[in-house]
Amino acid sequence: MSRIATVVRQPPLTTTGSAEIALAGKNAWTITFDDGGLSALTEIAGMLERKGWRGWFFMATDFIGQPSFCSRDQIRELHERGHVIGSHSCSHPERFSSCSREQMIDEWTRSSQILSGIIGHPVTTASVPGGFYSRAVAQAAGEAGIVVLFNSEPVTSTTRVGSTLIVGRYNVYRGMSADDAASLVSSPVRRLRQAAFWNAKKVAKVLVGPLYKAVRERLLKQAYADPATSATKVTGSGKMTR
Ligand SMILES: [Zn+2]
Repeated sequence: MSRIATVVRQPPLTTTGSAEIALAGKNAWTITFDDGGLSALTEIAGMLERKGWRGWFFMATDFIGQPSFCSRDQIRELHERGHVIGSHSCSHPERFSSCSREQMIDEWTRSSQILSGIIGHPVTTASVPGGFYSRAVAQAAGEAGIVVLFNSEPVTSTTRVGSTLIVGRYNVYRGMSADDAASLVSSPVRRLRQAAFWNAKKVAKVLVGPLYKAVRERLLKQAYADPATSATKVTGSGKMTR
């Protein structure tokens, strides 16, 4: 976070209105945390606040109060300290995009209702569990009243599905160096590289059998050889958005 603070030009956005987010300038960014692990309150919130920042915390509601997850009181405290609380589904399905339409709507509706009840404030933002995003996932979120939906596609542009604003994210993963994390903010080339890698992985994931390894290697080589050619079709996993 300290390294990221040296490259950002403004504090992270905390507005949850889709119009405001869609119109935010090119220096606008957010920092988001999925799943609702206890570290949201014990570690992350304090670190953010010492920089005058607030984060977005997406909670999978079936896990509330379980060991190493935030309790209802802890979620309310995060909200009261100015952090944004959003849904990350109820059960965190393994492949959200494979769920039926009814299941998706139920996951989004119940989780936002539970969280709204906890914080006493409407919950209209969400992030897609596991990065398994599809248009149907977004449509179901819209039907459940979600107006801003974060997926894990590494893109800086936002799109709309119905009236729901879709926002991509770049992934800051375990073991990533601080410099590398900051370069996702400061370097378009670094962002393209993450996008190319995500795209290659996504294509490779649907292939099976002996083809898998060969195709995977070829795609990765192509992706790294010329990131610029991938620029028009960047799509990917994430925690940081800009
Ligand atoms: Zn998750």
